[in-house]
Amino acid sequence: MCGIVGISAESNVASEIYESLLMLQHRGQDAAGMVVCDDEGRLNSRKSMGYVRDVFQQRHMEKLIGSYGVGHVRYPTAGGAGKEFAQPMYVNSPYGISLAHNGNLTNSKSLAKELFFAEMRHLNTDSDSEVLLNILAHEIAKQKAINPTPEHLFKAVSKTHIRCDGAYAVVALITGAGILAFRDPNGIRPLVIGEREGKNRKEYVIASENALFASLGFKTLRDVEPGEAVFIDKKGIISSKQCSLSAKSQPCIFEYVYLSRPDSTLDQISVYQSRMRMGKYLAKNILDNMSDHDIDVVIPIPDSSTTAALQLANELNIPYREGFVKNRYIGRTFIMPYQEERKKSVRRKLNILELEFLNKNVLLVDDSIVRGTTSKKIIEMAKMAGAKKVYFASAAPPIRYQNLYGIDMAATEELVAHNKTEEEVCVEIGADKIFYQQLDDLISSAKEGNPKITDFEISIFNGEYPTPISSSYLEDLEMSRSDSKKITREAK
Ligand code: AMP
Repeated sequence: MCGIVGISAESNVASEIYESLLMLQHRGQDAAGMVVCDDEGRLNSRKSMGYVRDVFQQRHMEKLIGSYGVGHVRYPTAGGAGKEFAQPMYVNSPYGISLAHNGNLTNSKSLAKELFFAEMRHLNTDSDSEVLLNILAHEIAKQKAINPTPEHLFKAVSKTHIRCDGAYAVVALITGAGILAFRDPNGIRPLVIGEREGKNRKEYVIASENALFASLGFKTLRDVEPGEAVFIDKKGIISSKQCSLSAKSQPCIFEYVYLSRPDSTLDQISVYQSRMRMGKYLAKNILDNMSDHDIDVVIPIPDSSTTAALQLANELNIPYREGFVKNRYIGRTFIMPYQEERKKSVRRKLNILELEFLNKNVLLVDDSIVRGTTSKKIIEMAKMAGAKKVYFASAAPPIRYQNLYGIDMAATEELVAHNKTEEEVCVEIGADKIFYQQLDDLISSAKEGNPKITDFEISIFNGEYPTPISSSYLEDLEMSRSDSKKITREAK
């Protein structure tokens, strides 16, 4: 998962792209970058490893002159971590294209071969985003237009859709022309458009989440539709077109569970309200399975579970207490490359308020259980603090399959629920009882926000991938994500 943004305005946009990236920082902390285009058609750019506030210093900002541009925050998924993977990525032909991508292509290896052997394009990394950029560039070049019109660009996006499999939400700066944005035909990753009145024209933003719109004075216009392309030319004229014959809305449900900010609304579904509904359904599940429950207190594992936990506590009519205080400055435990580091980091990240646990039956609530590292450690801490019984509820169903669409979770074999029943997971993490959200209830939690969306991308729960996937791709990914294999590889 990454965060992307494009802004087109009457005056310089760099400081607003910077602010947007700060608001998207939760979507990626590995690297950040932006490219803006000035009136002479010259590009000004800056990208590097690290947090947004570290990448952009005053001296960089002063040089980022331009009234339209795109930005990116990176969370490593395909390829790896390193400076060369920072985005936006650039190709100089045709026109100069700078592209920011959120998602993951699942056929990037075969596309890379096509690009090299048939289209004679050099790729400098094994990043799928570089592949996507070159496919798009090649398809735009084939339109043979000195000054590309929206129609030329939309034709190229149609061809890109045909060639690329997987998930991609994209904003691309076409030098001298404007900003092109598009979303894969399943609309797996989110992309929202906002607008505001400038002095002489409308100004636009297109971003992964609309939480950032209000603070910059933008109003949400709409989502980019699955398969659709939108072009905002440098004068601020917007045009759009459906570029896929097989477009079908299947947004990633994990955006609502964990990835997105609660103050975002994606595909017209409020993330916050969907999390409240997750809490409501979890409460029903608990009452169905343990009507005579003896839970004294509901305690969330901060931050992303707090909304669901509060609603759950209300529905059960049980006190809601904060039992953990989070150190916000430690970074996400997930990014730690090895399990031992992850375990230590949970303890450093969360401090326990012992009195909230002493002699109580507690229900801990998390948004999801992935490797089980957090839940196991936290249950151990709750018991050490004197809890009588520790129940554990997850706002998401058991995660049993790996994510192929841009969320770097874990290799399948490292997912605690893979090949395990709920009871076996309960034993593994040391809980007295576990309550997992039912998949249908999770779907209802999201769908009730926008009944027009009937399908979601839920493959991490049921193993059914909505796009073509080759078995060799699955094996390669498994290899690159597995801790044990990482260690063997590094020892060689
Ligand atoms: P684990 O300890 O591996 O079971 O991780 C579960 C915790 O990681 C939950 O508290 C989630 O909030 C969080 N989480 C879930 N998915 C991700 C992700 N892709 N990146 C970072 N953290 C995540």
